Amino acid sequence: MKQHSLTIGSSRGSSEYKIVIGNDLIKESGKWARKWLGKGVAKIAIVSNPKVFKLYGKQAEESLRDAGFTVSHFLMKDGERYKNLRTAESALRLFAASGLTRTDAVVALGGGVVGDLAGFASAIYLRGISYLQIPTTLLSMIDSSIGGKTGVNSPAGKNLTGAFHQPRGVLVDIATLKSLAEREISSGFYEAVKQGALEGKKLFKQTGDFLAEFPPSEISEACDDKDFQVKISSLVASQIAFKARIAAGDERESSTSNNARSRKILNFGHTLAHALEKVTKYRQLTHGEAVGYGTLYAAQLSKTLALCDPKDVKLLNDVVHSVGSLPRLANIDEKEVLEAFRFDKKIIAGSLQMVLLKGIGKPVILHERDIPRTAMQKVLSQLLQKWV
Ligand code: NAD
Ligand code: MG
Repeated sequence: MKQHSLTIGSSRGSSEYKIVIGNDLIKESGKWARKWLGKGVAKIAIVSNPKVFKLYGKQAEESLRDAGFTVSHFLMKDGERYKNLRTAESALRLFAASGLTRTDAVVALGGGVVGDLAGFASAIYLRGISYLQIPTTLLSMIDSSIGGKTGVNSPAGKNLTGAFHQPRGVLVDIATLKSLAEREISSGFYEAVKQGALEGKKLFKQTGDFLAEFPPSEISEACDDKDFQVKISSLVASQIAFKARIAAGDERESSTSNNARSRKILNFGHTLAHALEKVTKYRQLTHGEAVGYGTLYAAQLSKTLALCDPKDVKLLNDVVHSVGSLPRLANIDEKEVLEAFRFDKKIIAGSLQMVLLKGIGKPVILHERDIPRTAMQKVLSQLLQKWV
């Protein structure tokens, strides 16, 4: 099968790196790591978790050893709650015990939790060493492994301790989707639909058409099918190209930039998503599912404010629903949700900013003062009534 190869550069001059997308690539990870890291790198520490390492660790280790690297590994516990400083510190200890020097490297093998933690640990170990991403969830393939945001959660909130640190390469092996739970596949698709809605008709249609042909419940089985492999690789490549373009244009998420090219647009659907995650104590919904709800909310709000053509809102709703049915929410207090909006990271100088749509491919960033509170409330209660 043909592989997709993208080169990510930065307008700010940080080093370029490659993203390769294809089937069964973990077996070749040594070859890619050598190519991207160069001859001077002797040691690699793989960061993963027990579940993913059991599935793909051996392949990766063998291939990296064949390419001449000395390989060690650090396995973090599985789950968002372990993405914290304490785990990062354990990773640093393993790097030191394995004798990693400034010319050595880290390989993140896993979903976004592993990728964020491994990237952060490599950003601070010896003030920064190289790392590669091998994302193994749909969400990490199209979203978290791209763009160089790394970090851990802190008691004050999610992702509040971190660093910008670009990987030296990203190896996307779509064969890893075979073992991924349906719920995790769906979670990735909610972010994919969000990115499609931001990019424009082309990516939105490609994502919607893909979902119509391969709903999340059928993806694991479809993984051996050649036609599926071609289509998913092409979709993942388009999704990555979009995320990479936005991230590269605004690498550090400038707080003053508010136009449609700002990295902030990627927060479409995330104001309600973060609020729902917070009020349900991160227990009821995956992040992707929260984004599914958040997308429906932002789209409806855009329609209520007469910003967006109702036809585009309907299209977007239909594609969100084609991912599957979102888990029902129990005991959500509307006031608590509205209160949680205020704690959103996007509050800059006291004003909440929300990404809405003027149409598919036409995001706008609005200040709270430009969105009538009654509209925010009304759309929220309509949606909550539907779900609860
Ligand atoms: P995750 O990493 O928790 O993975 C989900 C589950 O799938 C885990 O249980 C994991 O062990 C399992 N898994 C991973 N790959 C598998 C495979 N191939 N087969 C079977 N099981 C597999 O969740 P995620 O959705 O990948 O990532 C979410 C994280 O990403 C969050 O912490 C979020 O903050 C972060 N994130 C970061 C960015 C960024 O720009 N850095 C962007 C979006 C999300
Ligand atoms: Mg997100």
